[in-house]
Amino acid sequence: MTSREILHFIDGAYTAGSSGRMYENINPVDGSVISHICEGGRDDVDQAVSAARRALAGPWRDMTVQQRSDILYRVADGITARFDEFLEAECLDTGKPHSLARSIDIPRGAANFKVFADLVKNVPAESFVMDTPDQQGAVNYSIRTPKGVIGVISPWNLPLLLMTWKVGPALACGNTVVVKPSEVTPTTTALLGEVMNEAGVPPGVYNVVHGFGANSAGAFLTEHPDVDAITFTGETSTGTAIMKAASEGVRDVSFELGGKNPAIVFADCDLDKAIEGTMRSAFANCGQVCLGTERVYVERPIFDEFVKRLKEGAEGLVIGPPDMEGAALGPLVSQEHQDKVLKYYDLAASLGAQIVTGGGAPSMNDALQSGFWVEPTIWTGLPDDSPIMKEEIFGPCCHITPFDSEDEVIALANDTDYGLCSSVWTENLSKANRVAAQIDCGITWVNSWFLRDLRTPFGGAKQSGIGREGGVHSLEFYTELRNICVKL
Ligand code: NAD
Repeated sequence: MTSREILHFIDGAYTAGSSGRMYENINPVDGSVISHICEGGRDDVDQAVSAARRALAGPWRDMTVQQRSDILYRVADGITARFDEFLEAECLDTGKPHSLARSIDIPRGAANFKVFADLVKNVPAESFVMDTPDQQGAVNYSIRTPKGVIGVISPWNLPLLLMTWKVGPALACGNTVVVKPSEVTPTTTALLGEVMNEAGVPPGVYNVVHGFGANSAGAFLTEHPDVDAITFTGETSTGTAIMKAASEGVRDVSFELGGKNPAIVFADCDLDKAIEGTMRSAFANCGQVCLGTERVYVERPIFDEFVKRLKEGAEGLVIGPPDMEGAALGPLVSQEHQDKVLKYYDLAASLGAQIVTGGGAPSMNDALQSGFWVEPTIWTGLPDDSPIMKEEIFGPCCHITPFDSEDEVIALANDTDYGLCSSVWTENLSKANRVAAQIDCGITWVNSWFLRDLRTPFGGAKQSGIGREGGVHSLEFYTELRNICVKL
């Protein structure tokens, strides 16, 4: 693969495919062209799915679990050995700070292979002996087999991390994959093909087709009748379209979708920790984190102090390109996303929000003026039915609302179509547990945020997803559980 052309990876080899179409990969820092990406057509998706189907019946399926696990360890080590290359590529595509990709994206990208290579070695089987008088002399036992060819559709906010979070367990369970990475962040997914080859992953086990979603590679993949299951991370509206496609052939889906996540800050919290956690949850990765906090509810006695300190924190964030010393906030990923976030900033102002800080695009130096920068932004004063409180913005912004009682704040936190995650800040652990149990979402953090143990169930309630992945839950999705009944 050359650095100027991002090719598909099919059957163990890079290829420009047959559509002949390419599009530009834009650097979010300054709007310049980083590379050209091949846009996959139906034929390319077909080739990739056929390669995956052939590989499924080949050596990958015949290997022992230990052999597959050893190879996946080599994939993880291969990412680590080329750490700087992955880091550069990820930061160029996304604009995120090196410090963030160094501590989260790339190490987690590697860890996703090791964790599931280990987990798959310890899957228990069920066994039932039939010993009633009329059903004597039979034993049932369960086995798990790979589900087949898995279609993986991934987003742009944590490209390597979220893609390998699906590919790691899928391969550990003996499946083969066709990945369609986000059209705006394809590079690390493409680069991983080289690592797969170096690690000894057989051709056809890991395939990548680039392109867009609707009427492009994404839709062609999800509509393909030879794809057995689809795992998707992205917007709820895209999940709706993919679910329709998957209904043809009754194919299984696992969806990790959008969020409008609340943080609940009680007056008896450790305020330093609550401020530090909310700073990260609202502004890390320029707010482009599905688990990010966009609604903050603060108990009235500490409301003014909390707003003042979060404002100071936001105004202290250094905005700059990935390699800038101390940069905490990069640009948004694309012009389209910048337009979307700035529209919400204008909407908040027009609805009468009190703009505590930010609210627009920062002025950057000449070289960076064409980048997709926005200011970290805090609002107060909007009612809970405002679109700013209902719709996922996915930028570095949050709205802070005061509350007076536990019941009130639980109702406010749950007044949303989404249910991905929440955080609760209080030193009273009885209260923390009581409140956590009543928030309708997949994950609640108490006095923390984004503490992720990959063995735990991960996923969203309501419109934030379908199913759970992580630990044994990933193994549930990526295998077919079968019962064998033996008459003795
Ligand atoms: P997106 O839904 O626009 O795109 C995600 C992927 O889907 C891309 O690869 C895109 O090309 C593809 N796609 C789009 N339309 C398609 C179609 N009709 N058929 C098949 N594929 C299609 O999401 P995004 O903008 O890349 O990512 C941001 C969104 O992802 C946010 O809503 C965020 O909350 C969500 N997200 C959720 C989680 C989670 O774990 N719940 C994690 C990260 C991001």
